[in-house]
Amino acid sequence: MPFTLTSHGAAGTVTGSKHLLELTRSDGSSSRILMDCGMFQGEALQGPGGKDRNRRFGFDPASVDVLVLSHAHIDHSGLIPRLVREGFRGPIYATAATRDLCAIMLEDSARIQEYDTEYDRKRAKKRGQPTRDLQPLYTVEDVKPAMALFQVVDINETITIAPGVHLAFTEAGHILGSAAIQLVLDDGERVLRLSNTADVGRYVERILPEPAPFPQADVILCESTYGDRDHMPIKDAEEELLRHVHQVCVEQQGALIIPAFSIGKTQEVLYTLNSLSNAGRLPRVPVFVDSPLAISATHIARQYPQLLREAVRAELEHDPDLFTFPGVEYVREPKRSMQLNGMKGPRIVIAASGMMEAGRVRHHLFHGLAHAENAVLAIGFCAPGTLGAALLGGAREVHIFGELVPVKAAIHRMEFYSAHADRNELLRYLACQDAAVVEKLILVHGIDQARESLRERCLQAGFKQVLLPRMREVVEL
Ligand SMILES: [Zn+2]
Repeated sequence: MPFTLTSHGAAGTVTGSKHLLELTRSDGSSSRILMDCGMFQGEALQGPGGKDRNRRFGFDPASVDVLVLSHAHIDHSGLIPRLVREGFRGPIYATAATRDLCAIMLEDSARIQEYDTEYDRKRAKKRGQPTRDLQPLYTVEDVKPAMALFQVVDINETITIAPGVHLAFTEAGHILGSAAIQLVLDDGERVLRLSNTADVGRYVERILPEPAPFPQADVILCESTYGDRDHMPIKDAEEELLRHVHQVCVEQQGALIIPAFSIGKTQEVLYTLNSLSNAGRLPRVPVFVDSPLAISATHIARQYPQLLREAVRAELEHDPDLFTFPGVEYVREPKRSMQLNGMKGPRIVIAASGMMEAGRVRHHLFHGLAHAENAVLAIGFCAPGTLGAALLGGAREVHIFGELVPVKAAIHRMEFYSAHADRNELLRYLACQDAAVVEKLILVHGIDQARESLRERCLQAGFKQVLLPRMREVVEL
């Protein structure tokens, strides 16, 4: 049993990605390589034992030799500071953009947890309950030592990360800096090529390039977020977005609230609005980017023009800033953000979080949902159990900040900005492989319905063995 793989998250769920690879060599030595160290979010935290899911790794962090990180999203990176706090001391391999994004995202995540813990403690105190056990997953203090362990690996560069273990990253086209993980494992008797797609991007004209074909593998770990469906075809994101702006901001004189992940989607929407503005087609409405994290992320995106799609890079020659145009205001100060909540009249507000579970967008929804002239434009995946999922499901009233808010605003959906490949795109991504050579295709990062549907299609495509591992199930490779 020289190679095994155990998923300690994202097995039957879409969050908490943590895949532990263990190699035992013929001389008795071993290596433990962790791929991603993500936080569980949304529904995964509900139900019995849910709250503990981010507190117990299921393995000893001190025993892990190396962490390979695919991209900066919190469901792939969010527990890194806790991993380090619990004893992990190895290198963390990631692209430069992933490292830079993690620096701001993990600090933001730590602040949210400190804030939430403080809130829980106050509430417990009021009820006369003990507060001793209420501790944040990690604090801002824990982020710095974690960031010190990062080592940058460029896309398509090959390095040796443990005896007989070679790593290369390939372009995943998912968010800035995102990569698929390619490992070659050699225990002296057998060579195994393992690919971990992590999150796969799209074959549409966004600011990022398409996912790149990857080298032939023997074992593939593949995401399946949208394994059971295809995105609505949208010919033109500009036309679609412009239609929403006209309807809500011009005809109804209302607010168009766009809940968006600070990283990725916010920059994509700004890029579309910038293109419309350059073409003189964007109506004169104020655009507010109400997210300090999005401001920092947009700043980082400007520093990596080489990671953008070629056609987008060419645009930089006549427009040096693709995320800024007349009418846009970046809002960092909480005081200014609060002013926006009391504002009336047409406006576009882009704020995090995308699933509407946290962040400033909840304030905009709290004040805006009850008014029929407003609209919410959902542009990303909303996990079951989140406020976003409730609104998209047609809820007539929702709870925000402990109050019942009637939903009079229209709820629209636009799938163009989805950062995840749909079923057909996943199959297109896998088509670079000779399916007959692949010994095992392991589907993770999707709910069971999505995984099962994708399995059917993969079997039809010629993959011999398609596995859907349970959480903590040990798969022999
Ligand atoms: Zn992701």
